[in-house]
Amino acid sequence: MKVTVQADGVDVLVVAAHPDDAEFGSAGTVARWTREGKTVAYALCTSGEKGTSDRNVSPERLAKVREREQLAAAEVLGVREVEFLRYADQGLEDTPELRKEIVRVIRKYRPFTVITSDPYRRYVWHRDHRVIGQVVLDAVYPFARDHLAYPDLLDEGFEPHKVREILFWASEDINYRVDITETFHLKLAALRRHESQVKELPMPDLETWLKDRCRSMAEGESFELAEAYHRVEIPS
Ligand SMILES: [Zn+2]
Repeated sequence: MKVTVQADGVDVLVVAAHPDDAEFGSAGTVARWTREGKTVAYALCTSGEKGTSDRNVSPERLAKVREREQLAAAEVLGVREVEFLRYADQGLEDTPELRKEIVRVIRKYRPFTVITSDPYRRYVWHRDHRVIGQVVLDAVYPFARDHLAYPDLLDEGFEPHKVREILFWASEDINYRVDITETFHLKLAALRRHESQVKELPMPDLETWLKDRCRSMAEGESFELAEAYHRVEIPS
């Protein structure tokens, strides 16, 4: 599904490489913000059709399953819209074409905040995560902002848009933490909607593992559970 029309603006746009990335990265934050009345949209770059060790599942079938799981997770969190861009799993590259597609999505949803994966995480990091973080950063600044970047997008009705901040999950350089103590249960519930993935996870007790992770991300704060980011303010 390619973007063809402009939507109403949202407060937050989450751009993820695969179904379940956003639930690991920012579901507690999203649940908290939607409860506070903020509007959130998701853009899924791939449908995660390579995410299985089961040799009996075809990529086509898995893509359908994972899109369904992603919609169910988004519903738990109160996400208003989920858009599937359907690029190839394990196939994201930093190309002018993908950058333009992300610019189109940003200009369509006109968010204040964009959340995505940190492209600068070192060593073992899924290539799709690294690539999409970089592409989103570049799309936000300066390509979505500048009207001369894509004159043909203007013709399609996608006006320039200034995103104000980006939050990167899975960062090694954390400078921003969101208290998710009250919405941790929704993060867990949303993650559990990704049944095809959860059953492949190596940890036997997802709740304990996740809580420990969120507790360590809240280190040094007065609250118990957090999601942690590298936050970048975009100069205006
Ligand atoms: Zn992923």
